[in-house]
Amino acid sequence: MNKIGILYICTGDYWKFWENFYKSSEELFLTNEEKHYFLFTDNRELLNINNERIHSFFQEKMDWPYPTLYRYKTFIKYKTVFQDMDYLIFCNANLLFNEKISRNDLFANKELFATLHPGFFDKKPQKFTYETNIKSLAYTEKKVDSIYVCGGFNGGIKNDFLKMAEILDDNIDKDFSESIIAIWHDESHINNYVQNNKEKFNILSPSFCYPQHYSIDINKKIIVQDKEKIISIKHKGVFYNI
Ligand code: UDP
Repeated sequence: MNKIGILYICTGDYWKFWENFYKSSEELFLTNEEKHYFLFTDNRELLNINNERIHSFFQEKMDWPYPTLYRYKTFIKYKTVFQDMDYLIFCNANLLFNEKISRNDLFANKELFATLHPGFFDKKPQKFTYETNIKSLAYTEKKVDSIYVCGGFNGGIKNDFLKMAEILDDNIDKDFSESIIAIWHDESHINNYVQNNKEKFNILSPSFCYPQHYSIDINKKIIVQDKEKIISIKHKGVFYNI
C-alpha cells in the first residue's frame, strides 16, 4: 500500500465541490492505497475538518488567474508536509470520480502522468492553444506527434512531481518578471513540460477529464462538473446534491 497525497485547492466558491469530490474519491479512487487529502482553502468549515487523512491549510483567495497560476507556489511552500507521501496527485476542485481507478491506471510504471485535454484529443496539433510568444518559457513548438494536456488532473512520484512544480513555478515567475502570463496559465506551462519530458509521462485518455456537458464516445472515469451550472449528479445510485 502506498501513501498518496491528493492536492486540492478550493478558495472562494470552490469549497462547494469538496464534499462530493471526497465522497466519490473514497468510493472509487485508488481504493487499495492510503489516501491523504491536502486541502488548501479559505473556507472555515473545511479548515476545521477533524479527520486523520484530511489535512487543511489556509490559502487566501486571490484574483483570477492567480489561484490557478500560482498553484505550484502552494505545493512548494508546503512540501515538507508531504514528506511521508509516496505519490502526489493534483485534482481540480470540480472533479467527480465516476469509475474505479487504480494506481496502475494512472502511472503504468512511469514517474508522472498527465491527461489529454478533452477539447483537443481528437484535433491536429495546428489547433492546439500552446503559448505562442517565443519570449515566454511556456512557448511550445507544435510537432506532428505533439499532444495537448489539461491542467486539472496530473500527478507523479513525490520527488518527480515536486521537481516539476519547482521548474514550472520558476518559469511562471520568470515570465511574470518580463510581464508575461502564458495564454492558459499553468496549463500552458505544464504542456511545455510534458512536451520536453515525454518519456517520463504516462498520458491518460480524456476519460479521466470528461466534461459534464460533453457527449463523446468514451468512458466517463472522472467527470469535470460544470462550474456555472451546478447540478445534482446521480452516481452509483446515490444522488450527489451540490
Ligand atoms: N481555484 C480556486 N479558487 C478560485 C479559482 C480557482 O480554488 O477562485 C482552483 C480550483 O482548484 C480550480 C482550479 O483552481 O479547480 C482551476 O481553476 P478553474 O476551475 O477556474 O480553471 P479551469 O481548469 O476550469 O479552466
